[in-house]
Amino acid sequence: MGKRIVIALGGNALGNNLPEQMIAVKQTSKAIADLIEEGHEVIIAHGNGPQVGMIQKAMAELTRSDPEKYIPCPLSVCVAMSQGYIGYDLQNGLREELLDRGINKGVATVLTQVEVDPLDPAFQNPTKPIGAFMTKEEADKLVAERGYNVIEDAGRGYRRVVASPKPQSIIEIESIRDMVSAGLVVVACGGGGIPVYKTEGHHLKGAAAVIDKDFASCVLAQQVNADTLIILTAVEKVAINFGKPEEQWLDELTPDQARKYISEGHFAPGSMLPKVQAAVEFAESAPGRSALITLLEKAKDGVAGKTGTAIHL
Ligand code: ADP
Ligand code: MG
Repeated sequence: MGKRIVIALGGNALGNNLPEQMIAVKQTSKAIADLIEEGHEVIIAHGNGPQVGMIQKAMAELTRSDPEKYIPCPLSVCVAMSQGYIGYDLQNGLREELLDRGINKGVATVLTQVEVDPLDPAFQNPTKPIGAFMTKEEADKLVAERGYNVIEDAGRGYRRVVASPKPQSIIEIESIRDMVSAGLVVVACGGGGIPVYKTEGHHLKGAAAVIDKDFASCVLAQQVNADTLIILTAVEKVAINFGKPEEQWLDELTPDQARKYISEGHFAPGSMLPKVQAAVEFAESAPGRSALITLLEKAKDGVAGKTGTAIHL
Protein backbone atom coordinates (compact mmCIF):
# COMPACT_ATOMS: atom_id res chain seq x y z
CA MET A 1 0.00 0.00 0.00
CA GLY A 2 2.23 2.77 -1.23
CA LYS A 3 1.57 6.34 -0.21
CA ARG A 4 2.42 9.54 -2.03
CA ILE A 5 4.88 11.31 0.23
CA VAL A 6 6.46 14.74 0.03
CA ILE A 7 9.71 14.85 1.99
CA ALA A 8 11.09 18.21 3.11
CA LEU A 9 14.82 17.89 3.83
CA GLY A 10 16.35 20.19 6.43
CA GLY A 11 19.85 21.61 6.69
CA ASN A 12 21.32 18.47 8.28
CA ALA A 13 20.38 16.43 5.19
CA LEU A 14 22.75 18.50 3.04
CA GLY A 15 25.61 19.75 5.25
CA ASN A 16 27.25 23.15 5.29
CA ASN A 17 29.78 23.03 2.45
CA LEU A 18 30.73 21.09 -0.68
CA PRO A 19 32.49 18.09 0.90
CA GLU A 20 29.96 17.89 3.75
CA GLN A 21 27.13 17.85 1.23
CA MET A 22 28.65 14.89 -0.63
CA ILE A 23 28.79 12.87 2.60
CA ALA A 24 25.42 14.02 3.95
CA VAL A 25 23.64 13.22 0.68
CA LYS A 26 24.79 9.59 0.91
CA GLN A 27 22.95 9.18 4.22
CA THR A 28 19.99 11.17 2.97
CA SER A 29 19.74 8.95 -0.10
CA LYS A 30 19.60 5.84 2.10
CA ALA A 31 16.72 7.28 4.14
CA ILE A 32 14.79 8.21 0.99
CA ALA A 33 15.54 4.88 -0.75
CA ASP A 34 14.11 3.05 2.29
CA LEU A 35 10.74 4.65 1.54
CA ILE A 36 10.92 4.05 -2.21
CA GLU A 37 11.83 0.41 -1.55
CA GLU A 38 8.64 0.06 0.50
CA GLY A 39 6.61 1.14 -2.51
CA HIS A 40 5.96 4.78 -1.67
CA GLU A 41 5.95 7.52 -4.31
CA VAL A 42 8.41 10.14 -3.13
CA ILE A 43 8.73 13.81 -4.05
CA ILE A 44 11.68 15.63 -2.45
CA ALA A 45 11.87 19.27 -1.41
CA HIS A 46 14.83 20.75 0.47
CA GLY A 47 16.31 23.80 2.16
CA ASN A 48 19.28 25.78 0.80
CA GLY A 49 20.46 28.17 3.54
CA PRO A 50 24.22 27.49 3.50
CA GLN A 51 24.29 26.80 -0.25
CA VAL A 52 22.50 29.95 -1.35
CA GLY A 53 24.61 31.92 1.14
CA MET A 54 27.78 30.53 -0.47
CA ILE A 55 26.60 31.31 -4.01
CA GLN A 56 25.39 34.78 -3.08
CA LYS A 57 28.74 35.56 -1.42
CA ALA A 58 30.69 34.28 -4.42
CA MET A 59 28.62 36.36 -6.82
CA ALA A 60 28.94 39.45 -4.60
CA GLU A 61 32.75 39.03 -4.54
CA LEU A 62 32.73 38.75 -8.32
CA THR A 63 30.86 42.04 -8.61
CA ARG A 64 33.21 43.65 -6.10
CA SER A 65 36.21 42.56 -8.21
CA ASP A 66 34.96 44.41 -11.32
CA PRO A 67 31.62 46.19 -10.89
CA GLU A 68 31.55 47.38 -14.53
CA LYS A 69 31.89 43.89 -15.93
CA TYR A 70 29.91 41.83 -13.42
CA ILE A 71 26.62 43.41 -12.46
CA PRO A 72 25.12 42.07 -9.20
CA CYS A 73 23.46 38.67 -9.46
CA PRO A 74 19.78 38.73 -8.44
CA LEU A 75 18.88 36.61 -5.43
CA SER A 76 16.34 34.66 -7.51
CA VAL A 77 19.21 33.58 -9.81
CA CYS A 78 21.27 32.52 -6.75
CA VAL A 79 18.33 30.33 -5.61
CA ALA A 80 18.11 28.79 -9.10
CA MET A 81 21.85 27.99 -8.98
CA SER A 82 21.46 26.37 -5.55
CA GLN A 83 18.59 24.19 -6.81
CA GLY A 84 20.76 23.02 -9.68
CA TYR A 85 23.76 22.20 -7.54
CA ILE A 86 21.80 20.45 -4.79
CA GLY A 87 19.67 18.61 -7.35
CA TYR A 88 22.85 17.38 -9.03
CA ASP A 89 24.11 15.82 -5.78
CA LEU A 90 20.68 14.36 -4.86
CA GLN A 91 20.17 12.88 -8.33
CA ASN A 92 23.53 11.14 -8.16
CA GLY A 93 23.23 10.04 -4.52
CA LEU A 94 19.79 8.54 -5.07
CA ARG A 95 20.63 7.03 -8.44
CA GLU A 96 23.53 5.14 -6.91
CA GLU A 97 21.61 4.03 -3.80
CA LEU A 98 18.60 2.83 -5.84
CA LEU A 99 20.75 0.95 -8.36
CA ASP A 100 22.66 -0.69 -5.47
CA ARG A 101 19.29 -2.00 -4.24
CA GLY A 102 18.30 -3.21 -7.71
CA ILE A 103 15.72 -0.46 -8.20
CA ASN A 104 15.71 1.12 -11.63
CA LYS A 105 13.97 4.47 -11.24
CA GLY A 106 14.73 7.84 -12.77
CA VAL A 107 15.52 10.75 -10.48
CA ALA A 108 15.05 14.26 -11.86
CA THR A 109 15.22 17.80 -10.52
CA VAL A 110 12.76 20.46 -11.58
CA LEU A 111 14.03 24.02 -11.31
CA THR A 112 10.94 25.28 -9.57
CA GLN A 113 9.52 28.79 -9.53
CA VAL A 114 7.09 29.61 -6.75
CA GLU A 115 4.70 32.49 -7.10
CA VAL A 116 4.57 35.08 -4.34
CA ASP A 117 2.24 38.04 -3.90
CA PRO A 118 4.11 41.32 -4.57
CA LEU A 119 1.73 42.91 -2.04
CA ASP A 120 2.67 40.33 0.65
CA PRO A 121 3.30 42.39 3.82
CA ALA A 122 6.63 40.51 4.17
CA PHE A 123 8.04 42.78 1.44
CA GLN A 124 7.49 45.79 3.73
CA ASN A 125 9.23 44.02 6.60
CA PRO A 126 12.29 42.06 5.41
CA THR A 127 13.49 39.80 8.23
CA LYS A 128 15.67 37.08 6.72
CA PRO A 129 19.45 37.80 6.94
CA ILE A 130 21.45 36.48 3.98
CA GLY A 131 25.01 36.62 2.72
CA ALA A 132 28.22 37.85 4.30
CA PHE A 133 28.71 40.29 7.17
CA MET A 134 29.67 43.81 6.08
CA THR A 135 31.16 46.93 7.61
CA LYS A 136 28.87 49.92 8.11
CA GLU A 137 30.47 51.66 5.10
CA GLU A 138 29.87 48.67 2.81
CA ALA A 139 26.30 48.37 4.05
CA ASP A 140 25.57 52.10 3.57
CA LYS A 141 26.87 51.88 0.01
CA LEU A 142 24.51 49.01 -0.87
CA VAL A 143 21.58 50.82 0.70
CA ALA A 144 22.34 53.95 -1.33
CA GLU A 145 23.26 52.27 -4.63
CA ARG A 146 20.94 49.28 -4.74
CA GLY A 147 18.18 50.01 -2.27
CA TYR A 148 19.03 46.94 -0.19
CA ASN A 149 17.69 46.57 3.33
CA VAL A 150 20.38 45.95 5.93
CA ILE A 151 20.38 45.26 9.65
CA GLU A 152 22.99 45.24 12.35
CA ASP A 153 23.13 41.55 13.29
CA ALA A 154 23.76 40.90 17.00
CA GLY A 155 26.99 42.93 17.19
CA ARG A 156 28.66 40.86 14.46
CA GLY A 157 28.37 43.43 11.68
CA TYR A 158 25.85 44.40 9.03
CA ARG A 159 23.94 42.01 6.84
CA ARG A 160 21.46 42.29 4.03
CA VAL A 161 17.94 41.25 4.99
CA VAL A 162 15.36 40.10 2.48
CA ALA A 163 11.66 39.42 2.62
CA SER A 164 10.29 35.95 3.26
CA PRO A 165 6.85 36.03 1.59
CA LYS A 166 4.35 33.16 1.71
CA PRO A 167 4.34 30.78 -1.27
CA GLN A 168 1.11 31.03 -3.30
CA SER A 169 1.44 28.45 -6.07
CA ILE A 170 4.01 26.41 -7.98
CA ILE A 171 4.56 27.48 -11.57
CA GLU A 172 5.94 24.10 -12.76
CA ILE A 173 3.29 22.02 -10.95
CA GLU A 174 1.95 20.34 -14.12
CA SER A 175 5.42 19.14 -15.08
CA ILE A 176 6.03 17.88 -11.55
CA ARG A 177 2.73 15.95 -11.53
CA ASP A 178 3.43 14.41 -14.94
CA MET A 179 6.88 13.28 -13.84
CA VAL A 180 5.55 11.77 -10.60
CA SER A 181 2.79 9.97 -12.55
CA ALA A 182 5.44 8.61 -14.91
CA GLY A 183 7.15 6.99 -11.93
CA LEU A 184 10.07 9.37 -11.55
CA VAL A 185 11.48 10.45 -8.20
CA VAL A 186 11.22 14.24 -8.42
CA VAL A 187 13.25 16.88 -6.60
CA ALA A 188 11.30 20.16 -6.57
CA CYS A 189 10.86 23.45 -4.73
CA GLY A 190 14.51 23.50 -3.59
CA GLY A 191 15.24 26.25 -1.11
CA GLY A 192 11.52 27.03 -1.00
CA GLY A 193 11.51 27.71 -4.74
CA ILE A 194 12.69 30.57 -6.92
CA PRO A 195 10.42 33.43 -5.83
CA VAL A 196 8.63 35.08 -8.74
CA TYR A 197 5.62 37.28 -9.29
CA LYS A 198 3.44 37.92 -12.32
CA THR A 199 3.85 41.21 -14.13
CA GLU A 200 2.38 42.05 -17.54
CA GLY A 201 1.10 39.33 -19.85
CA HIS A 202 2.75 36.00 -19.10
CA HIS A 203 5.96 37.46 -17.77
CA LEU A 204 7.36 36.27 -14.44
CA LYS A 205 9.80 38.47 -12.55
CA GLY A 206 12.26 37.16 -9.96
CA ALA A 207 11.75 38.62 -6.47
CA ALA A 208 14.55 39.58 -4.07
CA ALA A 209 13.21 37.23 -1.42
CA VAL A 210 13.58 33.75 0.02
CA ILE A 211 10.63 31.47 0.61
CA ASP A 212 10.54 29.26 3.70
CA LYS A 213 11.07 25.67 2.56
CA ASP A 214 8.61 24.26 5.11
CA PHE A 215 5.79 26.44 3.75
CA ALA A 216 6.74 25.71 0.12
CA SER A 217 6.76 21.95 0.87
CA CYS A 218 3.26 22.30 2.30
CA VAL A 219 2.01 23.91 -0.94
CA LEU A 220 3.82 21.24 -2.99
CA ALA A 221 2.30 18.41 -0.93
CA GLN A 222 -1.19 19.84 -1.44
CA GLN A 223 -0.71 20.49 -5.15
CA VAL A 224 0.58 16.95 -5.89
CA ASN A 225 -2.25 15.54 -3.75
CA ALA A 226 0.13 13.79 -1.36
CA ASP A 227 -1.07 11.59 1.50
CA THR A 228 1.77 12.57 3.80
CA LEU A 229 4.13 15.49 4.30
CA ILE A 230 7.29 14.45 6.12
CA ILE A 231 9.51 17.19 7.48
CA LEU A 232 12.94 15.72 8.23
CA THR A 233 15.07 17.77 10.58
CA ALA A 234 17.59 17.58 13.43
CA VAL A 235 15.18 16.44 16.18
CA GLU A 236 13.26 13.15 16.43
CA LYS A 237 10.11 14.78 17.78
CA VAL A 238 8.51 18.13 18.45
CA ALA A 239 8.64 19.22 22.09
CA ILE A 240 6.75 21.56 24.32
CA ASN A 241 8.90 23.43 26.84
CA PHE A 242 11.79 22.66 24.47
CA GLY A 243 15.17 22.84 26.24
CA LYS A 244 13.56 23.37 29.65
CA PRO A 245 13.42 20.97 32.61
CA GLU A 246 9.70 20.28 31.92
CA GLU A 247 10.48 19.41 28.28
CA GLN A 248 7.97 16.94 26.86
CA TRP A 249 8.33 15.18 23.49
CA LEU A 250 5.11 14.74 21.55
CA ASP A 251 4.07 11.59 19.66
CA GLU A 252 0.94 13.14 18.27
CA LEU A 253 -0.46 16.59 17.81
CA THR A 254 -3.88 17.71 16.58
CA PRO A 255 -4.24 21.04 14.79
CA ASP A 256 -6.15 22.45 17.78
CA GLN A 257 -3.46 21.39 20.25
CA ALA A 258 -0.82 22.80 17.91
CA ARG A 259 -2.58 26.18 17.76
CA LYS A 260 -2.74 26.27 21.54
CA TYR A 261 0.98 25.46 21.87
CA ILE A 262 1.82 28.02 19.16
CA SER A 263 -0.05 30.73 21.07
CA GLU A 264 1.86 29.73 24.22
CA GLY A 265 5.16 30.21 22.34
CA HIS A 266 6.48 26.63 22.44
CA PHE A 267 7.94 26.64 18.92
CA ALA A 268 10.85 28.88 17.93
CA PRO A 269 10.14 31.27 15.02
CA GLY A 270 12.32 30.48 12.00
CA SER A 271 12.97 26.89 13.06
CA MET A 272 10.21 24.72 14.60
CA LEU A 273 7.33 27.18 14.21
CA PRO A 274 7.14 27.10 10.39
CA LYS A 275 7.32 23.28 10.48
CA VAL A 276 4.39 22.98 12.88
CA GLN A 277 2.42 25.60 10.93
CA ALA A 278 3.10 23.79 7.63
CA ALA A 279 2.17 20.43 9.18
CA VAL A 280 -1.11 21.80 10.54
CA GLU A 281 -2.04 23.46 7.26
CA PHE A 282 -1.40 20.22 5.34
CA ALA A 283 -3.24 18.00 7.85
CA GLU A 284 -6.31 20.25 7.63
CA SER A 285 -6.22 20.68 3.84
CA ALA A 286 -8.16 17.50 2.96
CA PRO A 287 -9.49 14.40 4.71
CA GLY A 288 -6.96 11.64 5.33
CA ARG A 289 -3.89 13.82 5.06
CA SER A 290 -1.27 13.74 7.79
CA ALA A 291 2.12 15.24 8.50
CA LEU A 292 5.14 13.90 10.33
CA ILE A 293 8.10 15.73 11.85
CA THR A 294 11.11 13.57 12.67
CA LEU A 295 14.83 12.91 12.25
CA LEU A 296 16.22 12.16 8.81
CA GLU A 297 17.47 8.71 9.91
CA LYS A 298 14.06 7.86 11.38
CA ALA A 299 12.00 8.48 8.24
CA LYS A 300 11.19 4.79 7.72
CA ASP A 301 10.27 4.18 11.38
CA GLY A 302 8.24 7.37 11.36
CA VAL A 303 6.16 6.30 8.36
CA ALA A 304 5.61 2.96 10.13
CA GLY A 305 4.19 4.92 13.09
CA LYS A 306 7.08 4.01 15.42
CA THR A 307 8.48 7.47 16.09
CA GLY A 308 8.33 11.15 15.25
CA THR A 309 5.51 13.60 15.90
CA ALA A 310 2.44 12.87 13.79
CA ILE A 311 0.12 15.79 13.07
CA HIS A 312 -3.40 14.83 11.99
CA LEU A 313 -7.04 15.55 12.75
P1 ADP B 1 15.89 22.65 9.36
O1 ADP B 1 17.19 22.95 8.69
O2 ADP B 1 15.58 21.18 9.37
O3 ADP B 1 14.75 23.49 8.85
P2 ADP B 1 15.85 24.22 11.83
O4 ADP B 1 17.10 24.44 12.59
O5 ADP B 1 15.27 25.34 11.05
O6 ADP B 1 16.11 22.95 10.91
O7 ADP B 1 14.71 23.70 12.83
C1 ADP B 1 14.87 22.55 13.63
C2 ADP B 1 15.33 22.93 15.03
O8 ADP B 1 14.27 23.56 15.75
C3 ADP B 1 15.66 21.77 15.93
O9 ADP B 1 16.96 21.29 15.68
C4 ADP B 1 15.53 22.38 17.35
O10 ADP B 1 16.78 22.82 17.82
C5 ADP B 1 14.66 23.60 17.11
N1 ADP B 1 13.45 23.70 17.94
C6 ADP B 1 12.91 24.88 18.32
N2 ADP B 1 11.79 24.70 19.03
C7 ADP B 1 11.59 23.34 19.11
C8 ADP B 1 10.58 22.54 19.72
N3 ADP B 1 9.57 23.07 20.38
N4 ADP B 1 10.68 21.18 19.60
C9 ADP B 1 11.72 20.65 18.91
N5 ADP B 1 12.70 21.37 18.32
C10 ADP B 1 12.64 22.71 18.41
MG1 MG C 1 14.67 25.63 8.99
